[in-house]
Amino acid sequence: MTQTLHGGCQCGAVRYEAAGEPLLVALCHCSMCRRANAAPVVAWAMFREEQVRFDRAAPTLYNSSPGARRGVCRTCGTQVSFTGDAIPGLIDLTVGSFDDPGKLTPSLHYWDEKRLPWMRFDDGLPHHAQFPPFE
Ligand SMILES: [Zn+2]
Ligand SMILES: [Zn+2]
Repeated sequence: MTQTLHGGCQCGAVRYEAAGEPLLVALCHCSMCRRANAAPVVAWAMFREEQVRFDRAAPTLYNSSPGARRGVCRTCGTQVSFTGDAIPGLIDLTVGSFDDPGKLTPSLHYWDEKRLPWMRFDDGLPHHAQFPPFE
C-alpha cells in the first residue's frame, strides 16, 4: 500500500500531497533554515519532485542564497518547500507543514556545526557537521 501524506501552509492557501515514502527525514540546524522559519531547528522530509503535487496555489519561491529556492505561502508566510541545485530533482517539505507530522520521524541531524548551543537532543541520532550528511 502506498501512503499519501497531505499538508500545507497555516492559512490553507498552499496545499500539497506527497505520495510514497520520503527519501530522508532529517533535522537541519543551518542558519538559513533557522532564519527562514524563525525556529531553532527545522525538520525536513525529502521526496522526488514527481512524488509531490500542489493542489491549490503553488508556493512562492525566493532565493535564500544562490541556487537555493524556498517556497513560502505568500499569504501567511509559512515555509513549505525547499528546492535547489544541491538536491537536483528532489524537493524538501517542512515536516511541520504536514497535517500529521508525527508520522515523519527524523533519522539524523545535519549542519550540526551550526546547531545552537542550547539546542540539545537525547534522540540518539547521528549528527553530521554539514550537508549532505555523509560523515
Ligand atoms: Zn498560507
Ligand atoms: Zn537548513
